Amino acid sequence: MAKLIDGKVISAAVKEEVKAEVSALKQKGVTPGLAVIIVGEDPASKVYVANKEKACEASGMASFKYALPENTSEEELLALIQKLNNDSCVNGILCQLPLPRHLNEELIINSIVPEKDVDAFHPQNVGKIMIGNYDFLPCTPAGIMEMLKYENIDIEGKECVVIGRSNIVGKPMSMLLLHKNGTVTVCHSRTKNLKEVCKRADILVAAVGRANFVTADMVKPGAVVIDVGINRLENGKLCGDVNFAEVEPVASYITPVPGGVGPMTIATLMKNTVTAAKKQNNI
Ligand code: NDP
Repeated sequence: MAKLIDGKVISAAVKEEVKAEVSALKQKGVTPGLAVIIVGEDPASKVYVANKEKACEASGMASFKYALPENTSEEELLALIQKLNNDSCVNGILCQLPLPRHLNEELIINSIVPEKDVDAFHPQNVGKIMIGNYDFLPCTPAGIMEMLKYENIDIEGKECVVIGRSNIVGKPMSMLLLHKNGTVTVCHSRTKNLKEVCKRADILVAAVGRANFVTADMVKPGAVVIDVGINRLENGKLCGDVNFAEVEPVASYITPVPGGVGPMTIATLMKNTVTAAKKQNNI
């Protein structure tokens, strides 16, 4: 039976640290501020943004929400980002993805100044992560690293397999595991013999976006299994990329969905905003 890696407990510890840092910064006259932009009516995005706002308020940070209509033009969105780039009360800017199809995501992300890019999606921040000399780490992979650290799970020399190569999860995740001296394999939709590759993993990270994709026969006995997926089933329930019921008896550690990686992502966002506020105020 695997030990559950409880994202709620670990993220609460991170959020407590953030709260203490926010309070210390406020005594120096600095209130960290996060601006969150959401365009359109995507229900999942609305939930994520509401959770981010809640977390900001609980930590004592200032939160600025910009809910824009679906038909917002690129010029309007760029103008808002420009305004926030120049606003000293705003230390972090997050534009909730996905954006409506008529907006060029790359252009929008690149318009956020790197110092305020608390998602670490800007090419300058991505490049710094590649080199290993960074200011911010992307929230989901960094949250996962925090979970592994909290559970004293050693990465050095371990076979790490990441399923998924997206810019926001798979690629940066593999880079962070590499920085910690893991031997990393990145899988994707064209990977051959996926089952065999996954079965080699001491640490298996699933970021696929397909419910119950990882089954027990893909997992080495005693592996650490991290489930990034957030999939909504027809009955409305949330479900990960890992078939929890099957895999849990095989793994040594496993993250649940919900209550695993998700809360860590938000806690890291808070942490990044504090880092941004400190850097921008030379603290
Ligand atoms: P993407 O859709 O951008 O990437 C999915 C990846 O999975 C792609 O690289 C794709 O390969 C790969 N893939 C798809 N099908 C297969 C297959 N049959 N075999 C092997 N690989 C496959 O998703 P994201 O990375 O953005 O997100 C992944 C999941 O994580 C989603 O469920 C998302 O909701 C969730 N998520 C959760 C977060 C959290 O806080 N917990 C934060 C961000 C995301 P290819 O590149 O070849 O197409």
